[in-house]
Amino acid sequence: MSQSFGPAPRRSTRSVKVGNVMLGGDAPVVVQSMTNTDTADVKATTQQVAELWRAGSELVRITVNTREAAAAVPKIAERLAMIGAVVPLIGDFHYNGHQLLAAEPACAEALAKYRINPGNVGFGKKRDSQFASIVELAARHGKAVRIGANWGSLDQALATRMMDENAARAEPWDAGRVLREALIRSALDSAERAVEIGLPADSIVLSAKVSGVQELIAVYRELATRSNFALHLGLTEAGMGSKGIVASSAALAVLMQEGIGDTIRISLTPEPGQSRTAEVIVAQELLQTLGLRAFTPLVTACPGCGRTTSEFFQQLAQRVQAHVRERMPEWKMRYPGAENLTLAVMGCVVNGPGESRHANIGISLPGTGEAPAAPVFVDGEKTVTLRGEHITESFIQLIDNYVQSHYSPQVNDHGDSNCATS
Ligand code: SF4
Repeated sequence: MSQSFGPAPRRSTRSVKVGNVMLGGDAPVVVQSMTNTDTADVKATTQQVAELWRAGSELVRITVNTREAAAAVPKIAERLAMIGAVVPLIGDFHYNGHQLLAAEPACAEALAKYRINPGNVGFGKKRDSQFASIVELAARHGKAVRIGANWGSLDQALATRMMDENAARAEPWDAGRVLREALIRSALDSAERAVEIGLPADSIVLSAKVSGVQELIAVYRELATRSNFALHLGLTEAGMGSKGIVASSAALAVLMQEGIGDTIRISLTPEPGQSRTAEVIVAQELLQTLGLRAFTPLVTACPGCGRTTSEFFQQLAQRVQAHVRERMPEWKMRYPGAENLTLAVMGCVVNGPGESRHANIGISLPGTGEAPAAPVFVDGEKTVTLRGEHITESFIQLIDNYVQSHYSPQVNDHGDSNCATS
């Protein structure tokens, strides 16, 4: 009996154009991130957007909360274009988006997508008119809109109405189910309203974020069943460090394995001094380990045990991963396909040769009591044995040589190779 292996095909969703990036439809899952600078600070925000873009973020969201921030947006877009950082900007609006977009048309034009939260687009009677104003502006400027409902800012009027409706049920749902349904309804009803106002359905991306893994999976399964809008996945307030990474990965992996999700953001709280780019790297590694996309060669390494008495193999694995990540922007231009390269750094003879044979290039370092020699395997064949003090440099050189000899150099319009070595 055949057994299915790998992620399910993506659920069919509408294609949405966000600047020069397509998401939804047949497009690969898109990585996005968000700045934490004051957007009114043009220099700092431009720098951080560029840093996120260099790390591989394909869309970058920025806060637009004041007139100064809105006025800064076109300047940021201009500076990014000057340094060749072609990355669509998404404006994150809460409460006053209708005013800011109307008052700063250059901001409305410079952004590729507007993110609005139906729970805090406005209060009372003003809610509908303010929502309509933003949607009309998006339609007029030809921009995409993410309708991003959030557990922490759920539309209270809707939640109260649904609680009342639930109380009248013969068999009332539990409160958690009612609130999940309110979140889903908030996103779906708002999308329907946006279409009625005149925004094309293929300009709409939906999200409904919660901070619990099981709740997020339940909410998105429902959203995917009940609509075909493109979906933005993310666990809100994921937290710091390994907790944030594990929680986000657990939730998003289950959904993407089921073919749900068109763009992802990992909402990591940076540790003090940590670069904002960590969230981009986690998103890429998640997509790559699921077999959905490839961004940079990933190093398979054993955890080490009592057979590895020195830290050398850990240092080698770290150096190799850092080296390929550093070289990848250049390889991407010159050697397309190099991102699929597989590498292994193993600590001893027990699993070393076997795992190394499965990689394109693998090295099996000597464990305790083994001869001080490190056989290297290339595409399953043992090619050389490294010894002495320069194992790291020699292994890295082998990797560089492999990339140059196995991936076709990119050829420019004049038929010249862009590869410096050819
Ligand atoms: S490969 Fe060797 S060193 Fe690495 S975990 Fe296995 S037994 Fe230990």
